[in-house]
Amino acid sequence: MATNRTFTMIKPDAANAGNAGAILKMIEEAGFRIVAIKKTKLSAETAGKFYEVHKERGFYGELCAYMSSGAIFPAILEKENAVEDFRKLIGATDPKKAEAGTIRAIFATSIEANAVHGSDSDENAAIEGAFFFAETERF
Ligand code: GDP
Repeated sequence: MATNRTFTMIKPDAANAGNAGAILKMIEEAGFRIVAIKKTKLSAETAGKFYEVHKERGFYGELCAYMSSGAIFPAILEKENAVEDFRKLIGATDPKKAEAGTIRAIFATSIEANAVHGSDSDENAAIEGAFFFAETERF
């Protein structure tokens, strides 16, 4: 069942560059409501758990090191058709291929340091949101 919620993280490159405010402004202006948000830092082990689905991919080790290299802002977002619309707002994984005006086209620096995460399905949005937030932290 579609929940109209998705999950995002502002990744270490964007958080460290001071772009969290500008990215959240784009997200809110695109019609997403922030249900939950915090600033935190993953350990390499926790990043490994979050990205477990990618553990067979060649870049898994690098990805875990990168995602634990600095603070992140995980958040749950709400909007009709949230998962699909948010993927459109962030653009392609590789910023060189991301459409102009998308968050990754504007803020990402590489295919790895690509500014933001966006869930790829309602099911993963629910799993990823639960990874960071209790029900009592959602409003
Ligand atoms: P997404 O759904 O657009 O985030 O892309 P994927 O699920 O395919 O990959 C997850 C994350 O792994 C991406 O957002 C990047 O941070 C990273 N990533 C993807 N492809 C590569 C790659 O070829 N090399 C490296 N180093 N990282 C990658």
